[in-house]
Amino acid sequence: MHSLPAPAFRFDNTYARELSALAVPWKPAAAAAPRLLYLNRELAGTLGLDADALSGAAGASLFAGNVLPEGAEPIAQAYAGHQFGGFSPQLGDGRALLLGEVLDRDGERRDIAFKGSGRTPFSRGGDGRAAVGPMLREAIIGEAMHGLGIPTTRALAVAATGDEVARETLLPGAVLTRVAASHLRVGTFQYFASRGEHDKLRQLAEYAIARHDPDLVGTPERYLSLLARVTQRQASLIAKWMNAGFIHGVMNTDNMTISGETIDYGPCAFMEAYDPEAVFSSIDHGGRYAYRNQPGIAQWNLARLAEALLPLVVEDRGESAADDVVAEATAVIQSFAGLYPAALLEGQRAKLGLQASAAHDADDAALANDWLELLHKHAVDFTLGWRRLADAAEGKEVFLQALFPDPQAPSEWLARWRVRCAADGIADETRARRMRLASPWIIARNHRVEEALAAASTGDDLGPFERLMAALRDPFTESAGNEAYARPAAAAVTANYRTFCGT
Ligand code: AMP
Ligand code: MG
Repeated sequence: MHSLPAPAFRFDNTYARELSALAVPWKPAAAAAPRLLYLNRELAGTLGLDADALSGAAGASLFAGNVLPEGAEPIAQAYAGHQFGGFSPQLGDGRALLLGEVLDRDGERRDIAFKGSGRTPFSRGGDGRAAVGPMLREAIIGEAMHGLGIPTTRALAVAATGDEVARETLLPGAVLTRVAASHLRVGTFQYFASRGEHDKLRQLAEYAIARHDPDLVGTPERYLSLLARVTQRQASLIAKWMNAGFIHGVMNTDNMTISGETIDYGPCAFMEAYDPEAVFSSIDHGGRYAYRNQPGIAQWNLARLAEALLPLVVEDRGESAADDVVAEATAVIQSFAGLYPAALLEGQRAKLGLQASAAHDADDAALANDWLELLHKHAVDFTLGWRRLADAAEGKEVFLQALFPDPQAPSEWLARWRVRCAADGIADETRARRMRLASPWIIARNHRVEEALAAASTGDDLGPFERLMAALRDPFTESAGNEAYARPAAAAVTANYRTFCGT
């Protein structure tokens, strides 16, 4: 019997083909001794790949960059970006390459890209490399976000290269293979806008519209419509981050996608005890990207996208319309101030077990705020606080009370909440069940992530990483044996926790 050839990537590389002037063809660096550390079998399946065929030596060579899959046309994409508020006109794929695009099982176009695959013309002073720890970290957080239902880029694979990467110490090198709805960023638009290359900017805008908002193709005012769509997607995304206690940590404009997916897991973290001021990144001294600042920063980044798109709209409407165009773009950016709170409240209502009701909008927002203040005041774990509220919905308050230093602390608030719940007329069990689908039991807790990375990068032991990944796959179900992943770290551990950019 003959075995069929392993189904391979079915590439269809529109970016390389249609936007060749916006990227540089480039090749990944050779890896000394490729070894596959992680293969996302489920994601491989949705991409139509044969995971078994990719799990051996062939997969290691492929995912370390030594053997290019057939049909790949690797390119380094150009982009710029505001980093911590300052504009860098030329960033680009300094250690990444887009291999191409494939249509997944649902017919969605997905970018396949390497991260850590060596120097490119955009590397500036960098070595183009990545280390095992940060790449496994990106894989973990991406799967955690996916498990929570938050739009995200995901790791298809992580391969160790066998090369050493010089950081503060020598670290084992790795390449991550990333799957994304696209790698178009706010910074991609800024790159061509800042160079005054309006033809390329227009090409890029048309490409983004065809790819992410095809219903807008050929419509009048489509660049402002694109801005409005990105604004909607980001308002929805940031609300999901906030309701999961997620802190991205480096919301530079080059790390904000047009697709609305979360991208670039460097110094990110999930918070433990609720604290709106929470910052984990070691380089975020001013707290620019603190938890509570994320919506404001998203809006600020969107304003940078608006500035990048404006020249196209003015070109089309004529200089005399410039003031109108600015006013219209400003209105789109200001719409974030309505879209974001609405998205946040929608998520909070699900977590509170409440039905949407215009009559209750203001009260429900206040109820959610007061709940968060209660968690803050008593330094309650954000994830477990919400989760145990579902038990309280069924009359089992002891588990929630146990999270507070004084078990009576939430009583007054709970009484208010119960009155509001009664207005919905839903059975307690139904409410509790719905709440458990909105508030996870398991998040990627920092001490668990660090433990997994330490075992993998210093001891070559992937066991803790694999067990953590398995626990993150189904974060909404309380299953025996996973308690250790649900438990918060000691407060002292969290207080001193710092994350570093994965460079
Ligand atoms: P990031 O902080 O990962 O979003 O990266 C910001 C910019 O720095 C991007 O242009 C990256 O390509 C570039 N970069 C980060 N690390 C490296 C590295 N080790 N070598 C070259 N470029 C890098
Ligand atoms: Mg980045």
